[in-house]
Amino acid sequence: MAEKKGRVFSGARPTGRQHLGNYLGAIRNYVALQDEYECLYCVVDVHALTTVETTRNLKQNTYEMALDWLAAGLRPEESIIFVQSHVPEVMELHTYLSMVTPLGKLTDLPTFKEKVRMHPDNVNYGLLGYPILMAADILLYKANFVPVGIDQAPHIEFAREAVRSFNYRYNTDVLVEPQMKVTPVPKVIGIDGVQKMSKSLNNEIELAATPEETQKRVMQMVTDPQRMRRTDPGRPDICNVFTMHKTFSSQEEVEMVHRECQVAGIGCVDCKKMLARNINAHLDPFRQRRNEIDRNPQQVWDILAGGAERASRIARQTMAEVRQAIGLA
Ligand code: SF4
Repeated sequence: MAEKKGRVFSGARPTGRQHLGNYLGAIRNYVALQDEYECLYCVVDVHALTTVETTRNLKQNTYEMALDWLAAGLRPEESIIFVQSHVPEVMELHTYLSMVTPLGKLTDLPTFKEKVRMHPDNVNYGLLGYPILMAADILLYKANFVPVGIDQAPHIEFAREAVRSFNYRYNTDVLVEPQMKVTPVPKVIGIDGVQKMSKSLNNEIELAATPEETQKRVMQMVTDPQRMRRTDPGRPDICNVFTMHKTFSSQEEVEMVHRECQVAGIGCVDCKKMLARNINAHLDPFRQRRNEIDRNPQQVWDILAGGAERASRIARQTMAEVRQAIGLA
């Protein structure tokens, strides 16, 4: 096996079945990174506790997300795929990092202000300490790289500062500063044609949806609002259906839609049917793999347990060094 270029860590909250936005924005990149890096992919279930009202679906959501990751091509024989809470050392590192983090730094983060705005009745410490736990996730595994969209850059910078503060305070070099691996994350717009694709907005197209369900969702997509009748020329460049064609359709089809839409040569119904067909063709192998894995759910839990064991080995080593550096051991 070719030598890997370093260690990558990425985590995602357990949101259950994944949708096209998750796939194009993250999962596709996760799969590609495996070829060149040693990857750790983590279902960050503890992070989810900051905002969930009930944990009733947490386990099922963890399962569904891991299942989608595996079906999309994450390779458990190479990558470490695991659940955050199954490696509890992360909580301990979170506590130590909190001792070197000025409070003002946390309250000033735009993401904290945004969360307070979104959850005014539930401003708990977890929301404030979220970036510290996120830093602990990365630093526990001494990750060299974290794949992020540019909007997440402040969190990685926060983790880097935490490393500098910790290493300076305890006169050590035990923690490693992670680098951002900025990937162009496309903003995938939902079927409403306006907002980012999201389950909470009910504007998503699930990867695991049946071909019929997918077609139904695509047919509901909002198009160019100025195109009221079939005979009206359309504006593909402002239409989300066309944006999706650019991802799922052939170059010839994209060019044809762009050309014919503007002269009313193609109607929105046919345009969407073509898109649905292409999305379904793209997702067909994924769905087959998903169904196969889903026949034996224990297999998914075994993979997650194996991942936690491998992650624990790294975590135990890091924590032994951290305690030693602090003077606790
Ligand atoms: Fe959008 Fe296609 Fe209709 Fe043009 S023909 S407005 S690209 S759905």
